[in-house]
Amino acid sequence: MTIAATPNAVPAWHTLEAATVLERLETDGASGLTEAVAAQHLERDGPNELLETGIKSFWLILLEQLTGTMTIVLIVAAAVSLALGEYVDASAIIVIVILNAALGFTQEFRAEKAMAALKQLSSPTVHLRRGGQALELPARDLVAGDIVTLEAGNLVSADGRLLESANLRVQEAALTGESVPVDKTIAVIGASGAALGDRLNMAYMGTAVTYGRGAMVVTATGMRTELGRLAKLLQSVKRQPTPLQRHLEQLGRGLAVAALALVAVVVALGLWRGEELRLMLLTALALAVAVVPEGLATVATITLALGAQRMLKRKALIRVLPAVETLGSVTVICSDKTGTLTQNRMTVTALGVADHDLEFAALIEGDRASSPPELTVLLAGAALCNDAALAKPDAPATIGDPTEAALIVAADQIGLRKPALESRFPRVSELPFDSDRKRMTTVHRVTEDGELPGGWPLEVSAHTAFTKGATDGLLEVCSQVLVGGAAVPLSDDWRKRIAAAQDDLAGRQMRVLGLAYRQFAVIPSDADLERELIFVGVIGMIDPLRPEAAEAIKTCVAAGIRTVMITGDHPLTAGVIAQELGIGSNAGVLTGQDLQGISPDDLSTRVRDVSVYARVSPEDKLRIVEALQKGGELVAMTGDGVNDAPAIKKADIGVAMGLTGTDVAREASAMVLLDDNFATIVAAVKEGRVIFDNIRKFIKYALTGNVGEIVTMLVSPLLGMPLALLPLQILWINLVTDGLPGLALGLEPAEPDTMQRPPHPPKESLFAQGLGRHIAWVGVLIGAVSLVTGYIYWLNDSEDWQTMVFTTLALSQMAHVLAIRSSRESLFAQGLLSNKTLLGAVLLTIALQMAVIYLPPLQTVFQTRALALSDLGIAFGVSTIVFWAVELEKLFIRRRSPPQPRASLA
Ligand code: ATP
Repeated sequence: MTIAATPNAVPAWHTLEAATVLERLETDGASGLTEAVAAQHLERDGPNELLETGIKSFWLILLEQLTGTMTIVLIVAAAVSLALGEYVDASAIIVIVILNAALGFTQEFRAEKAMAALKQLSSPTVHLRRGGQALELPARDLVAGDIVTLEAGNLVSADGRLLESANLRVQEAALTGESVPVDKTIAVIGASGAALGDRLNMAYMGTAVTYGRGAMVVTATGMRTELGRLAKLLQSVKRQPTPLQRHLEQLGRGLAVAALALVAVVVALGLWRGEELRLMLLTALALAVAVVPEGLATVATITLALGAQRMLKRKALIRVLPAVETLGSVTVICSDKTGTLTQNRMTVTALGVADHDLEFAALIEGDRASSPPELTVLLAGAALCNDAALAKPDAPATIGDPTEAALIVAADQIGLRKPALESRFPRVSELPFDSDRKRMTTVHRVTEDGELPGGWPLEVSAHTAFTKGATDGLLEVCSQVLVGGAAVPLSDDWRKRIAAAQDDLAGRQMRVLGLAYRQFAVIPSDADLERELIFVGVIGMIDPLRPEAAEAIKTCVAAGIRTVMITGDHPLTAGVIAQELGIGSNAGVLTGQDLQGISPDDLSTRVRDVSVYARVSPEDKLRIVEALQKGGELVAMTGDGVNDAPAIKKADIGVAMGLTGTDVAREASAMVLLDDNFATIVAAVKEGRVIFDNIRKFIKYALTGNVGEIVTMLVSPLLGMPLALLPLQILWINLVTDGLPGLALGLEPAEPDTMQRPPHPPKESLFAQGLGRHIAWVGVLIGAVSLVTGYIYWLNDSEDWQTMVFTTLALSQMAHVLAIRSSRESLFAQGLLSNKTLLGAVLLTIALQMAVIYLPPLQTVFQTRALALSDLGIAFGVSTIVFWAVELEKLFIRRRSPPQPRASLA
């Protein structure tokens, strides 16, 4: 008998019983693998990683370096020099090409690595059982046989056979294209050939848990997973160029074309005037080299990548490079309330049941025996319908969602201990919390053993369900209310009284949760679980504001950025908190329900004024982002839940929470807040503005220098002088004199007005705001200063004239870079030492320039001559003209537009 060869020897895990899978994988569903076995598996199978495809390879970066427009211009220049027999020039240009490519390459490679490292930092961790313990490990450490627990918001990090499923729902679009989440089970699927989408007892890498909880045993990791096999579907790390990089590429190309045109005109004119072809070609060469700003793209990339690193220090983790730059242009920040503007440290402060409103502190201190029985049900129910836990039996520390933790602590304080409650009322079923329904339900069996809380008024029937959630929504599914230990119909009067109690607490900045229950002999279907409930009472919790939030919002106002608060909480709570924080609440609060009734067109008008949105669902968030974007806003939007992902993706800057956010939200985001703090977004915006400013300063610096060179080159023949600068001298200026101080410009600290001016429009031309004008006039000035100096020496038959042009031009550049450190402040106000790197770069560049003039071997290469000290003094002296001229320009700017007083909050 021949056995047909199977394409792979992997068992069809979905056709096996969970117990069989565990046996085959030699693991234990409750305690997992031992550490020793896990280590062996890791050794055998390697880490749980996909080979990344999108990341730029070594060769691609190298190729890009060598095929850049500028490099090509240089290579052509080298070829022309070679043809002309200018071997020193040719080899020097080639050395420079190689050096430039090497520098560009190492910097880009470092930038790539830095971005990959940032990405790694934001990659998910998994919860698993190993060696009998519950652990949290990086997803790459997973091995076959590990027992992974899953909950809503997790990305599934490996393939696995499900062992537990409590309403587990998984979104498998990445793998199957099916956009509706799939309900998972643990039952065997008989057909071995079942399609991936039909293997309901399996969970696959790259899919996301949208609802419920579960556990799986890992069956495959890394490239052996289904996702790994679909090599083309790999989630690649895409490197899109940033808008600025795109602009710069265009600029580079434009300049190359301009260089060609200029060269053609000059050569044609020269030949027409009867100049020697060789001289004309040399001139053309020098001109082409002069026009192209060699260091521009590299400096921009490095500045952006360094910026991302700096943002990380401020707890903002950048996941995509364009975000660094886009951040600076943000006009609206849409922020969650809980945890971002507030501390998410909830404390129960007030309770309300029929006929009793109580401050929690009074309850603890007072005589508990006389407190109404509803209070016991309220707190016991809140502790049972709850996924948080006390970290240790007798410590106040808790694990889990702060809202839920607060409830457990409160129950504990009046003697209702969660472990004791749970042994009397074990949970048998649940409908997890989601931010659309804004409530959750757990169903409990009532056991015979253990104590009932004192004065327990409810019947000890077969099953009791507790539902807790937003009071307004909860009331809609209630038909009775618990009064004096008995259920009575929920009349309009009761509804009004409950709503009033809720509003009273909400008006005191509290998050209010309601609790209801229901009892039955047989557990109904999920759809019928939250119906005809009996309302018990409300619990008010205080969540203190983050102390730095109000200041950050003020900063935004001054910076022309509007803060919009979007919360799932009650409109009253939202409104009071917004007011307290200084978020414009004059235009009122829109609720999710209001949003449903507004047409998209009307909505884009309404969102211009309304800054507070309450009781919104994640889908509403998406509508708000779209409406804002339609009105031309550049939107940053925070989110943490699974359902927030579409809004996060849609926003110009999607911001996910690092502490409380789900993997899914993080995957969709451009930036992760490592501390969940609103002030961090504002800090990142500021960094973004600084980085953009600095790149613009570099453009200003480099292009002005180029204009100076072109003016020198074009005008010198008109004055009857020979070629004023040699190609190699120009290359030196473009690479060394531009490059070193240019990189240091990227470290320029924030200007005082960085956050006191409006965001710069992302579509604005690179040359807007006077940049083009500056480049033109200062460029002409630099050219004129250098040329006139050289001209006078030339007229006096000094052989040093060309070295004078070269040196004056290089020194004028140094004067220029010092003057443009700020776009409006004078260097004297700024202080020479406020960017020490730049000062160092300037001094180093001057030293190198001296080396080129005074060291004999370099004199031969660059055809320079040793200048007399007096001549050097003259070069230094005249180059300061540029400095003073630019200082005057800034004085003029300051006079014309004095600093804006900080805008008021009104
Ligand atoms: P944001 O962070 O945007 O301010 P949020 O945290 O207030 O949002 P959700 O978590 O969606 O928004 O909560 C919305 C509402 O759901 C809350 O106001 C509360 O009434 C209710 N709620 C929150 N957490 C729970 C929970 N664990 N159980 C039951 N209900 C809850």
